Amino acid sequence: MSAQKEYSFFQSVEKSFDKAAKFTKWDRGLLEQIKACNSIYSMRFPVKLDNGTIEVIEAYRVQHSQHKTPCKGGIRFSEAVNEDEVMALASLMTYKCAIVNVPFGGAKGGIKINPSNYSVYELEKITRRYTSELVKKNFIGPGIDVPAPDYGTGEREMAWIVDTYQSLKPGEIDAAGCVTGKPITLGGVRGRKEATGMGVFFGVREVCNMADIMEKLGLPVGIAGKTVVVQGLGNVGYHSAKFFRENGAKVIAIAEYNGAIYNADGLNEEEVFQHKLLNKTVLNFPGATNLEKSEDALELECDILIPAALENVINASNAPRIKAKIIGEAANGPLTPEADDILALKGIVVIPDMYLNAGGVTVSYFEWLKNLSHVRYGRLEKRFSENMNTRILEQIEELSGKKVSEKEKTFIMHGADEIDLVHSGLEETMISATHEIMQVWKSNPEIPDMRTAAYVSAINKVANSYVELGIFP
Ligand code: GLU
Repeated sequence: MSAQKEYSFFQSVEKSFDKAAKFTKWDRGLLEQIKACNSIYSMRFPVKLDNGTIEVIEAYRVQHSQHKTPCKGGIRFSEAVNEDEVMALASLMTYKCAIVNVPFGGAKGGIKINPSNYSVYELEKITRRYTSELVKKNFIGPGIDVPAPDYGTGEREMAWIVDTYQSLKPGEIDAAGCVTGKPITLGGVRGRKEATGMGVFFGVREVCNMADIMEKLGLPVGIAGKTVVVQGLGNVGYHSAKFFRENGAKVIAIAEYNGAIYNADGLNEEEVFQHKLLNKTVLNFPGATNLEKSEDALELECDILIPAALENVINASNAPRIKAKIIGEAANGPLTPEADDILALKGIVVIPDMYLNAGGVTVSYFEWLKNLSHVRYGRLEKRFSENMNTRILEQIEELSGKKVSEKEKTFIMHGADEIDLVHSGLEETMISATHEIMQVWKSNPEIPDMRTAAYVSAINKVANSYVELGIFP
């Protein structure tokens, strides 16, 4: 999708930071320290391709902040990767972790490739070589810096990373915690794959449950019946669409970089995904209308717009034409600072990326804890809870002389599995973060939007940990 850039991505993040910093009491020097990227590793390494030629690969890992360790953040494979982008994304990770109270500093990695131009074998070689470069420079490890999936990467790449790390660090007992988003068999946690999309849903749902905000927007409270447009049908867009649909919203349009489709009666993301797999495009999906230009989907009349692809897609040139009432930033940085100002004037509520897409890193945190504790969630207590629940139920039945239905019995007796605990931990995290941000927003009528409130909340938390460390008085 075309995106007119007014600022570099990192400058946009700095601009949003400065806008929020005015609402804090911190010393200028401390604010400068929080904003700066602490360590930037820019690397080049050769990879021999299947046809025998050698290609020099450009890649990065940026650690924005070590105010808490390890640092945390995904690795993306994209042709658009550059140092500025990775710096911006690493900074967002610091603020994101602070907002959802995940005790990590922010980091991000990127390899400048289009993965579809390489064979699986070539991708494996690139990923393993990147990992060994990180090991050589001490830029990866369960207590140092823990990568995860991002745009263009997934479980497969994380599996290669953990395997490479373990082979270079034999006997390191916590080695599985060197990366998150791994397959379950290699130490992954159940629920990581859908985590970001689920977090997006929980966050938007929480805002839609706030009567004062809905009243201002002229919308009924709740998710049911709301119309949703999703841009990007990758892992995050797919799962966001799924949870909105399953909870009674109507996904009326889905956009991809090479085409968009519309159906006022609602689209099923799984059917659209299958169609895309077969045809390499979402276009010509049965029953839907093709949109002439993919970016037109962003300008459709709808209640909720979910940009779930790349940065800067809503900018000064198209922001005046946006008709959505709520924008949920599932991607990192989909709105430029100019777009923010224009949308605020139009009364559109923007739910910011560093809060809304924090579901991924929240569940990554659960995965990392699982790796360090070497035990699956629920393993110790599941059976105990089930036995206890059975006894309580039997007593109630005996005392009341009434029988509970089989369906209710199964529900009441159930002891929590790993997936139940991960989902409820994520729900709790997103709900309490929403309320923390809203409290900041409401505490100062001068704070113009939710993004600024989220930054204020993040800056205060990071600043406080510097103060606790005694580095700044
Ligand atoms: N790449 C995801 C993000 O941008 C997840 C990061 C992680 O789990 O560390 O938030």
